[in-house]
Amino acid sequence: MAGAVLLLGVLLAGAAPLIPLAVLVYRYEPELLPLFAVPLAVLVAAWRIARDRARDQLTDPLTDLPNRQALLIATQEALARHETEPGHGVGLILLDLDRFRSLNDALGHTAGDRLLVHIARRLHRALRTGAGHPRDGEDATVLPPPVGRGERPVVARMGGDEFAVLLPGVGDTEVLERIAQALIAELAAPIRLDGLLLVLEASAGVCAYPTHAPDAESLLRRADVAMGHAQHSRSGVECYDEARDLDTPYRIGLLGDLRRAIEMSEVQLHYQPKVAFDGSVVGLEALVRWDRAGQGRVAPDEFIALAESSGLMPRLTDYVLESAVGQIARWRHQGLMVPVAVNVSPRDVLNPGFAARVAGHLTRHQVPAAALQLEITERLLLDDSRRAADTLAELRRYGVRMSLDDFGTGHSSLVRLRSLPVGELKIDRSFVSRMVADDHDAAVVRCSVELAHSLGLTVVAEGVEDDETWERLHDMGVDAVQGWLVSAALPADQATAWLLVRRNDAPPVESLPR
Ligand code: C2E
Ligand code: CA
Ligand code: CA
Repeated sequence: MAGAVLLLGVLLAGAAPLIPLAVLVYRYEPELLPLFAVPLAVLVAAWRIARDRARDQLTDPLTDLPNRQALLIATQEALARHETEPGHGVGLILLDLDRFRSLNDALGHTAGDRLLVHIARRLHRALRTGAGHPRDGEDATVLPPPVGRGERPVVARMGGDEFAVLLPGVGDTEVLERIAQALIAELAAPIRLDGLLLVLEASAGVCAYPTHAPDAESLLRRADVAMGHAQHSRSGVECYDEARDLDTPYRIGLLGDLRRAIEMSEVQLHYQPKVAFDGSVVGLEALVRWDRAGQGRVAPDEFIALAESSGLMPRLTDYVLESAVGQIARWRHQGLMVPVAVNVSPRDVLNPGFAARVAGHLTRHQVPAAALQLEITERLLLDDSRRAADTLAELRRYGVRMSLDDFGTGHSSLVRLRSLPVGELKIDRSFVSRMVADDHDAAVVRCSVELAHSLGLTVVAEGVEDDETWERLHDMGVDAVQGWLVSAALPADQATAWLLVRRNDAPPVESLPR
């Protein structure tokens, strides 16, 4: 019907200049009227070509599904409908086949194409008839009843082995996740192709309007981000999570400002003392502080995670090392021989040439390696990498001391712990802060102390805030504590004043345990 009206419209519009002439001819020379058939036929043909071309531009030639452009238009339309007639939101699921490329290479591209056509059909069927294999008592369809007019799902091929399902009227993320799971299960049903039985695995990213995205373009992009996370974590389905999206305007701005702040030396180091129970200072931990221009202080956990996931971390660590080693040199000139610990991220240790760069900072400032300690998190051990082990061994050979941070959170095995060149173990704040109130946490602390001592390591407890915790740690034989009870992290000048007061308590670096 709509097509006929359109045809009539085009004909009338295209034929408009001919109408007065046709009327005259009809009145005075009606036998000449057939002459108009030719221009009219030309007009109809032109209209047909234009229509087909428009359809081709929006259709994937292999599967006949709407393509990315068509999906974007359909999404915009669904969002516009939601605007005029607010409903239950709009959901988008992006699906990507795991290891399709190797399948394609192994089977040949023709077979790969047939597989894609088959998948397109499966998705279509699943959404029309309900996806998933219902168990007893379960509803056969995972799709909620259509909400309102024109709310049918749209299956599209985004290119390669990537498909999308647009679900107008389904903005509930839990429902969307269930549908995504069911679609993945549907795709995982064995497929017979050229005598082979194939089982496909897929990853899905879920994004919902208006919960996760304000417009069609962001809905598509964010579903893609979620799918990337699903592939990376091999979790099957992931919902969009802004905190893990590097490309939100906030995070892009934060990253740009951080990069600039590092370049302009606006990032600062504060120093928090580690003290033994006799009050002597065994060292200081350097902790980064960043006051973002006009926006106040940003929590280190926040911008460090951002630096880690964006590739800025080596730059930041280099900056921190340079400042900390420079500060060690200045303190040594004042006769303050305290070692300083710098936190390094697992990424740093995996970075080629890291050990040499550390040595470079020490040489430049003429600081002995033993005056620097590196705190590596226990998370590093989860990744049992040869390169990390080599870097740590190289640093140890230089004489840099190493400390295992956040102990208790990473489940290191005894074997790994034994083979690491660390001299100190830091019990994570989460156990220390709860040990007075919770027997389990106290037990973790006690066991950690015994374990560390049996391996010849010294033990530092972090996050000590009150006297009772201090006493309990003392009784357990902990070697040193760090926490607000002693001092918060201080800017360099205040740390200097703090150290000068205790000048004579600080043991010389060279006499410290390894
Ligand atoms: P962390 O290495 O475990 O550092 C100890 C954190 O506990 C610091 O938080 C410190 O300010 C805080 N803290 C110290 N004493 C107490 C206490 O008594 N009570 C409580 N509740 N907290 C205490 P901060 O400075 O926010 O740093 C957080 C994390 O950021 C650090 O945890 C470390 O993993 C990371 N970080 C900080 N500076 C650097 C750096 O220069 N490089 C790298 N790679 N990571 C850093
Ligand atoms: Ca630390
Ligand atoms: Ca820690």
